[in-house]
Amino acid sequence: MLQFLKELPKVELHAHLNGSLGMDSLCELAERLYGSASEEFSQLCARFTRFDKDSDLDACFEKFAFVHELTSTEEGLRYATELVVREFARDNVQYVELRTTPKANKSYTRREYLQHVIDAIGEARKTYPDILVKLLPSINRAEPVAVAEETVSLALEFAQSHPDLILGIDLSGNPGKGTFSDFVPILSLAREKGLKLVLHCAEIENPAEIKEMLNFGMSRCGHGTFLTPEDIELLKSRNIPIECCLTSNVKSGTVHSLEEHHLKRLMEADAPKVICTDDSGVFDTTLTQEFLLAKQTFGLTRDQCVSLTLEAVQHSFATVEERQSMATKVKNYMDSLQK
Ligand code: 5GP
Repeated sequence: MLQFLKELPKVELHAHLNGSLGMDSLCELAERLYGSASEEFSQLCARFTRFDKDSDLDACFEKFAFVHELTSTEEGLRYATELVVREFARDNVQYVELRTTPKANKSYTRREYLQHVIDAIGEARKTYPDILVKLLPSINRAEPVAVAEETVSLALEFAQSHPDLILGIDLSGNPGKGTFSDFVPILSLAREKGLKLVLHCAEIENPAEIKEMLNFGMSRCGHGTFLTPEDIELLKSRNIPIECCLTSNVKSGTVHSLEEHHLKRLMEADAPKVICTDDSGVFDTTLTQEFLLAKQTFGLTRDQCVSLTLEAVQHSFATVEERQSMATKVKNYMDSLQK
């Protein structure tokens, strides 16, 4: 099954750029930036090794801050982006929608941040032509609304110049911070102007906010851990998939164990769902591994893994032609196994 899943041309719809750098990539990045003989490099390696001990949502957000140090320069950001594309390509992911929060610091503005990521994706695609990459700029709900407004404005501008790359807006960031309603006007504008919306929703228990988000609507629902059966029925009636990230939810402590993961309830309700990594680097996983865990925990068969992949194809923001081509790759793979 591992080999079957590894070779399956998979589709990743929920991946945060700075969370998707695995340990090897982080070391490679640190080495490139500081040189392996430097004091900075030794200190960074010592900090990497402490990573796995943490297991709550706040601790995870500290890990992101650590990765952000490595991507705080143009060189770091560009190389990190290329490494992330490489990681997904090596896992035989044929399509990935990367999300990232444009940041401003002394090395780059938010506009330059997006430009560097776009350029690096272009470079990476020359080396890894078999993977199709799309980009969803993220709003960090812990930051002021003015930052979200700048992000949406940049996303709209870059969507004009790169209509095949920038397809939507993600709302993420620490779910315990910020107030969803503050972002409604800017999210509404983004949607009116044609950007798809992917919202981290029901990641923590907050029934009032969950209702508000569901009423507002979205193209896909990130995590959906605390959705009620009625909420799930509502999403099902609107054909809105829930992006399930098993390892992420368990390691960040929002779900107690794999056995209790809501993927089971979604399967029982026959609700739309996709399997995703979220932050393959921070949580030390791959899309192959997530499918394998779903198989080991809930008994997913090969056919169900293929169906979930085709479901992800349909819920991606790719064009009709791109989706057809992705589905064909899956079909060809399955046909090749019959021979
Ligand atoms: P970046 O946007 O810097 O490329 O990716 C890391 C960022 O994505 C984090 O700092 C955080 O704002 C967001 N993020 C990553 N994983 C999660 C998650 O599981 N839940 C939420 N709400 N936000 C996340």
